Amino acid sequence: MRWEPDRGAPASITDESRRKASAWTALWRGLRCRCPVCGEGKLFRGYLTLGPACTACGTPFAHLRADDAPPYFTIFLVGHLLVPGVFWVEKVYEPPMWVHMAVWLPFFTVASMLLLRPVKGAVVAWMLRLGLTGEEQGGLKAPLPPNALKDEKRERGHA
Ligand SMILES: [Zn+2]
Repeated sequence: MRWEPDRGAPASITDESRRKASAWTALWRGLRCRCPVCGEGKLFRGYLTLGPACTACGTPFAHLRADDAPPYFTIFLVGHLLVPGVFWVEKVYEPPMWVHMAVWLPFFTVASMLLLRPVKGAVVAWMLRLGLTGEEQGGLKAPLPPNALKDEKRERGHA
């Protein structure tokens, strides 16, 4: 028997068409920084900070940790979008290196800043689509306090 993740939306969503949004729909909603489950509520409460839960359907986001996946995909996309331009400018105009730096660094920075948020939205949508809730990552309720690991070592006698 094939394992199937729980892709169901919270019970508060009774509309079947919204409960069973396709993976592409969920990804598109995530790219638009909307709740991947209902497409209405906001996914973020800051630039990259996820809200505690969807304001429209109540899907919990608080424990989802996308970790390094959004920067990884953002670097991949920005690199493939802009590096051909860098090579083309070098081949055609052969500018000095300082011109490359002055022109391309701001381009790369702005493109990365613009893409990181929607890419994180899509990653979170993918995680929800796979049935991840964040509880399987240990269910941490909040980030560890700065000395938590040190204290744990001390308690075990490792100073
Ligand atoms: Zn929602």
